[in-house]
Amino acid sequence: MTAQRRLLTAELLSVGTEVVVGETRDTNAGELGGSLTAAGVRVTRITALPDQLDTVAEAYRSALSRVDLVVSTGGLGPTPDDLTREAIARVWNEEPVVDPSLEAWLRDLWARRGIDFPSMNLKQAWLIPSAVALANPNGTAPGWLVSGRDGQVAVALPGPPREMRPMWANEALPRLVQLGLGADIASRTYRLAGIGESQVAELLGESLLRSTEPTIATYARAEAVDVRISATGRGDRSAASLVEESAAVVLEHVGRYVWATGTTTWSEAIGLRLAGLEWTVAIVEIGTAGSVAALFGDVPWVRFGESIAADAPAARVHGVPASDRPAATEHETDASDHDLPRFAERARELGGSEVGLAVRTQARAGDTAVSIAIVTPLGARQVRRAVFLSGPMGRTRAALAAAAVLLESLPRAGHDGSPESGSSA
Ligand code: AMP
Ligand code: MG
Repeated sequence: MTAQRRLLTAELLSVGTEVVVGETRDTNAGELGGSLTAAGVRVTRITALPDQLDTVAEAYRSALSRVDLVVSTGGLGPTPDDLTREAIARVWNEEPVVDPSLEAWLRDLWARRGIDFPSMNLKQAWLIPSAVALANPNGTAPGWLVSGRDGQVAVALPGPPREMRPMWANEALPRLVQLGLGADIASRTYRLAGIGESQVAELLGESLLRSTEPTIATYARAEAVDVRISATGRGDRSAASLVEESAAVVLEHVGRYVWATGTTTWSEAIGLRLAGLEWTVAIVEIGTAGSVAALFGDVPWVRFGESIAADAPAARVHGVPASDRPAATEHETDASDHDLPRFAERARELGGSEVGLAVRTQARAGDTAVSIAIVTPLGARQVRRAVFLSGPMGRTRAALAAAAVLLESLPRAGHDGSPESGSSA
């Protein structure tokens, strides 16, 4: 009788000389790591190993001394270099025997193709007493799920991803869940804009970021600084309630920078707000190489989009002649900024849209100056920002700044407050 033990920690083994010599990229372990983490299992190590019996057996043995669950991929082929079964049999100290029903299934695969069964493949019908077979509808290598005396579990999956993935999802995972996979976990991610990662860390404070239960972590991504709160349920407290409690504290510190949750993109956040308003957007961008359109992608709410080179004479088209420009004042960084609201207005007319957005970027000493003008039925607004770097990176950041200003300028449906107006430096 096997002792019941929740499977809370796991290590992953990627078996195959091709992986350690760099011929095959190890995608299996990362995918399994993601899946196990989502199931509430703490993955503590990933190890890649050559096809070497002693090495694989020793890796299994030591991993099983540390964690509840060890999942390997690779080494289940028919050739003598595929040794994962042998390694597990050695660790369990059990003798492999040919399983009659696996043998019949294998022989049938060859019979159906009218080919003689190669005796080399017989080891793919092996089982040890502690193992059950995991069906492989996409290949000839069944997997193994092996139960240990102390309630640990080993799972051996084939290396080819197209065999590994369905076997993991359909065969291994449901059995592991029945055995008691993972803890009660919950998480929430807030997406922030207009603030850097280190500033977020400063506002949250060291003690919050060092607390491990719940864990609060910051991630600087291209489109946002993410703050992720994650917790494991304990005793009388559910994971969800722990996250809820932490979220309130996080929002108190950085709530004003939050523009979305989870994995929401700018395009999704803006699209959702626009759908509530039944508004669409028309865009003119100057000097951005189309970065704003590229960020939003192929979305139905962009009704008109135009990208104009910074120094092109076309930058005066659409009824905005250069001679109409007011003179520069000493406070302006660039006199041509005065055109921008009229570009936004003109785009709005051309697109038949409620919202007109005009964006202009200019390189400034290695960085990028961004001007953003927005016209909505509620009013007009112009904002200037400086973003780090020039060139493609600067343009991408300029587009992100434009997205943030656009989202800010869209009232939530049913909200009757007026939008923020005026410029900010
Ligand atoms: P196997 O016969 O079970 O050892 O699997 C061998 C094949 O699976 C290799 O030739 C690779 O194409 C693929 N493979 C093995 N390990 C991995 C891995 N960790 N990540 C992605 N593919 C792998
Ligand atoms: Mg192999």
